[in-house]
Amino acid sequence: MDHVHVEAKRGAAFELPAGESVEITDTEGGQAIDVTAFPAADPEEAFSAKYTYRRTGKVRLETGDSMYTTAGDPIATLVADDCGVNDLLLGPCNEWIVSEYYGQEDEIGCRGNLQAVLEPLGVDPARIQEVLNLFTRVTVTDHTYIDFREPPSEPGDTAELRAERDALVGVAPCTGDSVLSEGGPTPIDLRVPDGVEVTTNF
Ligand SMILES: [Zn+2]
Repeated sequence: MDHVHVEAKRGAAFELPAGESVEITDTEGGQAIDVTAFPAADPEEAFSAKYTYRRTGKVRLETGDSMYTTAGDPIATLVADDCGVNDLLLGPCNEWIVSEYYGQEDEIGCRGNLQAVLEPLGVDPARIQEVLNLFTRVTVTDHTYIDFREPPSEPGDTAELRAERDALVGVAPCTGDSVLSEGGPTPIDLRVPDGVEVTTNF
């Protein structure tokens, strides 16, 4: 597999052939990582966190669970996860979230990074709205309040996603200098199948 380094607060995207996997590694630990996916043959159909909880009955994925699309079909499956903690509730951070909640100016956030790297692959930026948040620890308290804490991932923790169809995949280590990036936003590493071309915005 080819090794790809993704800088902090940036993104990477690539086409992952059906049956092939990407390994996503939190090299330093404590880093939330946003992932989204679109069918390569029809990027109008998008990964949907909401339909994923409808399909799985869960607000986080366990090993063996799939990410589902707006059409209710699996697009990728979490086949391994050293950390075991992820989240489907939070949308990707963006310019106003990182500014208003984290006090960071001039950042485009995870949504902006995913748009920047997926648009060249043919994905309409407006379609990029939902993500799987790897290593992100979110709970709902009193059936009402969303509570998020620092990611429990250790340095080197890796999650592996296998494409169920030819998929356009975007990955962004979270921009937020908050509990979502314990100790500050850090870079991550990817391993993609040999020969897969990776688009980045750094
Ligand atoms: Zn983010």
